[in-house]
Amino acid sequence: MRRLWKIPLADHALYSLTELVSNLFNQNEETMIASPPRADEIASAIRNIPDFPKIGIQFKDITPVLADARLFSGSIDLLTDGLKPGIVDAVVGIDARGFIFAAAAAIKLEAGFVPIRKKGKLPYQTHEEEYELEYGTAAVAVHVDALKPGSRVLLLDDLLATGGTAAAAAALVQKLGATILQISFLIELSFLKGREKLKQYPIKSVVQY
Ligand code: AMP
Repeated sequence: MRRLWKIPLADHALYSLTELVSNLFNQNEETMIASPPRADEIASAIRNIPDFPKIGIQFKDITPVLADARLFSGSIDLLTDGLKPGIVDAVVGIDARGFIFAAAAAIKLEAGFVPIRKKGKLPYQTHEEEYELEYGTAAVAVHVDALKPGSRVLLLDDLLATGGTAAAAAALVQKLGATILQISFLIELSFLKGREKLKQYPIKSVVQY
């Protein structure tokens, strides 16, 4: 008798819990799908910090976008717009804020994630590519075995300014024999004409200044 009591009670409790979790999940999913953010909403959340890290730079702070689940998730949807799982083999992210978007996009696209880091940070053998800065040069690096020849790549960074960083990163991807399907940026500072250094690739940006 006691046993008969316990089984239906346990089943009921388990069912209610499953139903509750599933309802919560569906509600969340519906809320997210019902109102994906527009690019201008993401733009409004990007904070401009004048004179950081030095005088004259208008630094675009993306941390408020990352801190908002809907805006973060929506920015990944916009960065990967038109791409589906199975189209891209690897999402390559550029040091350091590019990693955040590239890692999330890789999971969404069921692809691998590959970091392109500033020179001197990667532990294994690397290829390196130098690019011009306002004063002097910098270099980015990738592991020599990070991408298989022929693999299809989405290259991601948070921001396109003069285009030097992205052009150097793209050159590294090509050095490994991979194919760049698209380069996507959350932000493009159009007045700096970075696109001109990336003419041979399809470029997308979510927010333009
Ligand atoms: P560039 O090589 O000139 O296109 O610079 C792009 C890289 O520098 C990106 O990885 C950005 O994260 C960073 N960057 C350049 N300008 C800014 C800016 N105004 N605000 C935030 N990040 C910037």
